[in-house]
Amino acid sequence: MQAKDSSALSTAHALPSYLNPDHLGPWGIYLQQVDRVTPYLGSLARWVETLKRPKRILVVDVPIEMDDGRIAHFEGYRVQHNLSRGPGKGGVRFHQDVTLSEVMALSAWMSIKNAAVNVPYGGAKGGIRVDPRQLSKAELERLTRRYTSEIGLLIGPTKDIPAPDVNTNGQVMAWMMDTYSMNTGATATGVVTGKPVDLGGSLGRVEATGRGVFTVGVEAAKLTGLNVQGARVAVQGFGNVGGTAGKLFADAGAKVVAVQDHTGTIRNANGLDVAALLEHVGNTGGVGGFAGAEAMDAADFWGVDCDILIPAALEGQITKDNAGQIKAKLVIEGANGPTTPEADDILNEKGVLVLPDVIANAGGVTVSYFEWVQDFSSFFWTEDEINARLVRIMQEAFAGVWAVAQEHKVTLRTATFIVACKRILHAREARGLYP
Ligand code: NAD
Repeated sequence: MQAKDSSALSTAHALPSYLNPDHLGPWGIYLQQVDRVTPYLGSLARWVETLKRPKRILVVDVPIEMDDGRIAHFEGYRVQHNLSRGPGKGGVRFHQDVTLSEVMALSAWMSIKNAAVNVPYGGAKGGIRVDPRQLSKAELERLTRRYTSEIGLLIGPTKDIPAPDVNTNGQVMAWMMDTYSMNTGATATGVVTGKPVDLGGSLGRVEATGRGVFTVGVEAAKLTGLNVQGARVAVQGFGNVGGTAGKLFADAGAKVVAVQDHTGTIRNANGLDVAALLEHVGNTGGVGGFAGAEAMDAADFWGVDCDILIPAALEGQITKDNAGQIKAKLVIEGANGPTTPEADDILNEKGVLVLPDVIANAGGVTVSYFEWVQDFSSFFWTEDEINARLVRIMQEAFAGVWAVAQEHKVTLRTATFIVACKRILHAREARGLYP
């Protein structure tokens, strides 16, 4: 009888196959990050398993009719990692390499991030495995609307609120909001954030993530004696996050000396004209071919002479193979998960200060929170109010994480996880297990 009970328990504890910690990939990296933080959780460590299992995973088939009459099927996901602190919140990514492991990890990083800046959300994320550049605008709209209907079981203004991520934007959010509203019979602006401003979007949302990256970068520079004026900055990814962060650093007197995106890698030791580069990206879709710079080999980007490096493209970019080349004193993670754990260790040993994604790029979700609050109250704030509140939240969150890092002599990533995991698990413990 005893043996039977314990074997039943061990089956109950066995991880579902897709949660195998030996499985490499973004979810495996997230699990390693949680393991690193567990010793600092005290009695809350009893609940840590809850962070290692997403609450809900939905995989959907998204069939659409293409313009030429063919029927195409795409794989879509929505993962709600943890809802202990509030409704799910996290973006939707359209990319040909999206996997379930990636969406699971991104949803978990949203739980950590939302808790780190103390906005009242759990963590969620979605995605479709598609290269949207291969679709016409009409196909993209049909794809977005069908996906929104398929994940309609999970989303809602008080349940789970999507937002833009890689290759999605205000237009995609407008289609999502409209589809959800049509399906539920009432205009529900608060179901997504990152909407166009005249559809219940917030001023300042488009630049919010880059502004947050810049804000924590300035705070870290002050604490480490690095002068932003004249600092040399290299940026990977010059889209929403990288483009805005690059512009704000340039406006503050820094020199953006190298930029890499999916179309090329460029440098100018005297500092690129960032406004002209943004215009070129707007016109051509990428930094490749920009006249005010010389092209360089993609592989040499990581070794560029710079003070501040901002990875703002995709995850898994800084690895054990290139971390040793990095010359920057400060790495600010605009992207989610750009640094592998091995690379993190190498940077730490070299004395490079890494501002981790889970705090550095939290500006976007912070202003998404403002947007959601404004939608509920139907009362909209000025851009100055939004930026001031954003900067205050980012500065306070960063100062809190910095203090924990000093106290425990740990990296800022581990410190952010300590702060965030404690908040999530406190909520979990206070709520208790149902039934
Ligand atoms: P975006 O689509 O606006 O820009 C992505 C950029 O990455 C583009 O410049 C693209 O050329 C570049 N890129 C793509 N593949 C690349 C490759 N293989 N090598 C080099 N560059 C490549 O996306 P975004 O919204 O700026 O998001 C960038 C990162 O920031 C993602 O990791 C995203 O999850 C994260 N993030 C975004 C937000 C937000 O509010 N948009 C918030 C938090 C985190």
